[in-house]
Amino acid sequence: MRVQTVLTTQKQDASNLSGKELPLMEEFYSVQGEGYNNGVPAYFLRLAGCDVGCKWCDVKESWEADAHPVVHVNTMTERVLQSGATNVVITGGEPTLHNLDPLTRELKRHGLSTWIETAGTNELTGFWDWVCFSPKKFKVPHESIYAKVDELKVVINHRSDFRWAEQHAARVSEECQLFLQPEWSRRDQLMPSIFDFVLTHPRWRISLQTHKYLNVR
Ligand code: SF4
Repeated sequence: MRVQTVLTTQKQDASNLSGKELPLMEEFYSVQGEGYNNGVPAYFLRLAGCDVGCKWCDVKESWEADAHPVVHVNTMTERVLQSGATNVVITGGEPTLHNLDPLTRELKRHGLSTWIETAGTNELTGFWDWVCFSPKKFKVPHESIYAKVDELKVVINHRSDFRWAEQHAARVSEECQLFLQPEWSRRDQLMPSIFDFVLTHPRWRISLQTHKYLNVR
């Protein structure tokens, strides 16, 4: 069952934050619907602020950090623990805009697994058990991300994106898990070509947005 927490912390200027307080758009307990950890229960912390600007973004309301309340990392951790979750997904927005050292240190101090979903556009801070890198054509990733990636997840929006996906795959480690995921609004048109590509490029796997099929967050 999902647990939705109402955010009541007062809005503050989201700039110049030490990382002890972070702009939080929403938080909920659900299952990871995508990629390697698909189907695994996890608590989601969606941080606000994004410097990418994908035209097909389905959380555009996350883009403006100042439009969301600022929450202390201790408060976030308490809410995670109250939910009973053992895994925490830090997502956005683009979470690398923020100093994630204090949040991930606090989560790990309580034995929680820390996962991140990032387009890698800024230097990655924090302490991670799983790094999912999902590059976007709208902004070049920071060079340092490639050495830290456990999972490469590329959203396919056009047939030309397969070549682009391979270019990123060539830069991550051999152990990195590779996923292709259709852009949701064009999934019916794109799935046949993704299916064929995976058969001929078996290092890749298909990622479906299970949570959208289940109509949960
Ligand atoms: S990186 Fe994520 S939050 Fe930012 S625009 Fe792209 S899809 Fe939206």
